[in-house]
Amino acid sequence: MEKTNITIIGAGIIGLACAYELSKKHKDILIIEKNPFFGQETSSRNSEVIHAGLYYQPDSYKANLCIRGKDLLYALCASHNIPHKKVGKLLVAKTEDEIQRIEKTYNNAIKSGVEKLRFITKAELKQMEPDIEAEKAFFSPETGIIDTHALMKFYLDSSKNNGAEIIFNTQVIGINKTSTGYLIKVQESSGDTFEFTTNAVINAAGFDSDKVAAMVGIEPDKHGYKIYYSKGQYFRIEHPKKFRITHLVYPPPSHTDLGIHVTPDLGGGLRLGPDAKYIDCVDYNLNVADKEIFYKSFRRYCPKLELDDLIPDTVGIRAKTQQKDDLFKDFVIEEESKKGFPNFINLIGIESPGVTASLAIAEQVRSLLQKTL
Ligand SMILES: Cc1cc2nc3c(=O)[nH]c(=O)nc-3n(C[C@H](O)[C@H](O)[C@H](O)COP(=O)(O)OP(=O)(O)OC[C@H]3O[C@@H](n4cnc5c(N)ncnc54)[C@H](O)[C@@H]3O)c2cc1C
Repeated sequence: MEKTNITIIGAGIIGLACAYELSKKHKDILIIEKNPFFGQETSSRNSEVIHAGLYYQPDSYKANLCIRGKDLLYALCASHNIPHKKVGKLLVAKTEDEIQRIEKTYNNAIKSGVEKLRFITKAELKQMEPDIEAEKAFFSPETGIIDTHALMKFYLDSSKNNGAEIIFNTQVIGINKTSTGYLIKVQESSGDTFEFTTNAVINAAGFDSDKVAAMVGIEPDKHGYKIYYSKGQYFRIEHPKKFRITHLVYPPPSHTDLGIHVTPDLGGGLRLGPDAKYIDCVDYNLNVADKEIFYKSFRRYCPKLELDDLIPDTVGIRAKTQQKDDLFKDFVIEEESKKGFPNFINLIGIESPGVTASLAIAEQVRSLLQKTL
């Protein structure tokens, strides 16, 4: 291979959604993935929730692309039999402070254009979720769950059917601008390297996306592209049938995460998490001793929960441009002509709601690519 039209770096849900959307119109698309399979990092280590868009700053990419992405995703799932379920979500509060925080979230969601939300009475809550106790709650009927692996497989299979190609076990290690595009240097797992040229680059490298931007000469620190890792752990409820929980149940959010929530999955299981802790390097080890924190946190809303109900599950890493004390930070979705890199698209800080927004992000990427391609 000497030349390709569009190179997508990363076969997580974002790179694959871009491949799916772009391959409907563009030829010669190559996806490069360093792992042996697709979706082995953040895209397979998340809550698999289709978010309604409650939390994000109105008119931000996160809010707008979540709301659009959710609608696109439900339509796609229905037409292509991708497993999903609109289970609905309850945001619950016990104390006066928590009530104020869920009211703030509700008002934010209304400003963002989220529809069909409503506060419910205590009696209604008891009827909907007999094992959950709270003083106040609101209901988001449009929130759902999805089989993320099946969605990624659909994106990849469809892209391949449209002519896109993918190479695994191959890491992008260098990018140089040329007179007409970019020279990409890659290393295979054998250690061999090779180079090829491309007209356009989509950087969908997840928590390494700042490093990929730096390869072409875009300094992450200068442009707010530096990624900070926030680790999220999950514990699973060993015997889910013990609980009558059918909706997603969330506490009030903090300014950096959504709080430890319970998520029913499509197989009838129940998971608690994720928690959130900034870390210095990628680390997928789960701290079993944190079980007590999960237990205490969710037992406030579910008195029936016992410590021994919880068993360790998985860990995911949020790719955030937001540091601990920063306020809201949006997705970075930038075509970099202004920095001297035409048709180089950076997708950075694509944390939650990245799964939900994947198709809407891909649409945005398509509209940013120059028409000459
Ligand atoms: C704990 C947690 C819970 C979440 N819950 C939800 C949720 O319920 N709903 C929701 O909508 N979103 C959720 N998210 C967010 C969502 O998971 C992410 O937005 C999404 O998975 C990001 O996908 P990605 O493709 O950008 O990154 P990734 O899945 O990390 O993919 C990036 C890919 O790039 C590859 N790569 C990196 N560098 C290179 C290189 N140099 N060369 C080649 N390949 C490279 C990696 O191997 C990887 O496969 C959650 C995230 C976390 C961490």
